Amino acid sequence: MDPLDVMMHVDKVKPYFQAIFSADSHEVVGYEVLGKLEIDQKIISLGTFFHDPTVPDDFKMEIDQKIQDLAFKKYVSENIQVPLYLNVHANYFETEKEDQFLDHLLNYQQKGLDLANIVIEISEQQFSGDLDLLTHTFKYLKTLGVKLAIDDLGTGASNLDRISLMEPDILKVNLHALQSESISTNYHSIIYSLSLLARKVGAELLFAEIITNYHFHYAWRNSGRYYQGSFLSPSASDFVEMNILKERFRKDIQQFILVERKKLTAKFQLAKSLNLQIQGKWKQIKKNRELDVVIDSLAKEMEHIFFRIYVTDEDGFQKTVNFIHVNKNWMWDKSAKGKNWSWRPYFIENVIRMKEEQSGILSDIYNDIETGERIRTFSYPLDESLYLFMDISPMYLDEHEDLLW
Ligand code: CA
Repeated sequence: MDPLDVMMHVDKVKPYFQAIFSADSHEVVGYEVLGKLEIDQKIISLGTFFHDPTVPDDFKMEIDQKIQDLAFKKYVSENIQVPLYLNVHANYFETEKEDQFLDHLLNYQQKGLDLANIVIEISEQQFSGDLDLLTHTFKYLKTLGVKLAIDDLGTGASNLDRISLMEPDILKVNLHALQSESISTNYHSIIYSLSLLARKVGAELLFAEIITNYHFHYAWRNSGRYYQGSFLSPSASDFVEMNILKERFRKDIQQFILVERKKLTAKFQLAKSLNLQIQGKWKQIKKNRELDVVIDSLAKEMEHIFFRIYVTDEDGFQKTVNFIHVNKNWMWDKSAKGKNWSWRPYFIENVIRMKEEQSGILSDIYNDIETGERIRTFSYPLDESLYLFMDISPMYLDEHEDLLW
């Protein structure tokens, strides 16, 4: 719709509300205000109007104020107790519009609006101005009780530094790009780093644009505390009941738990069986030979699920060659012998754990640096100073999809 058409229909602007649900209470814990135009009984979203950079800020601010006015009135008169989420363009906080926005909030505070129930959603990618100024404004807003959510994460390049400087209360991840289960590992890594960031800065994770059960499950698996999307509840001109999805949440999450149990059980069972296998074979192998020869015979004894095997000492120095499985044979690659792997993530911690628990560890799933394929590593304490590392082949994981989880 043409921006001028929107401006000509200011009186037709209406706030819509989309519920946000919580993973722990299974109830509605907030409503996001969305702008719509109601013309000839047709509902038109104002999303494109607000996201269009060629629309002047003045226009956007005018429409925003109108929407907020109507939303605040309805929110206060219906005595809603859960937070109201407002979309605010970050650039407003750089201009005199900041005062307009604040005056508007304070004005409604006098009319009974509890500012501790206001969450401002800001898109970090849209913001082009001075970050110091912005964080200064947020600090002030926080003294009023207002909370800050960073919107639209996971849709493009986000700057993690900037996000943590803003000290958000909520990270809002948009699952729009998550179309199918075959999506690249890179996407999962981005979501994973956002969940780590949320934990580090003490923010809650909210997943938006949940449009299928797969999205819902994905959000739950990735430590989402809050959920929003048409699969759960579409935006509506009224506030939906707080417990509208309570039953469904209980059932759906129970299902997620079942799946999680099944996958994790498969993982633990593989680790247990590998532990037993290595323990048994290692006892039988004659050790009065060169270490490379000893490990070579161990490799030959093992079930053929590995494509690379090597041994390090507890400081991470590689004590053997790399045994590489090619065409049913174990080839010796001498290039890695003597190298140090203590810098790898969790290396020292895992060695200590193996030593203390006297048992092997199955790693999480990750991309192999050399092959770029998704693998897992099983590591095992052969004795006090020798640690065995066995990389499980991607083919084996593909055949056991529970292990790809
Ligand atoms: Ca939003």
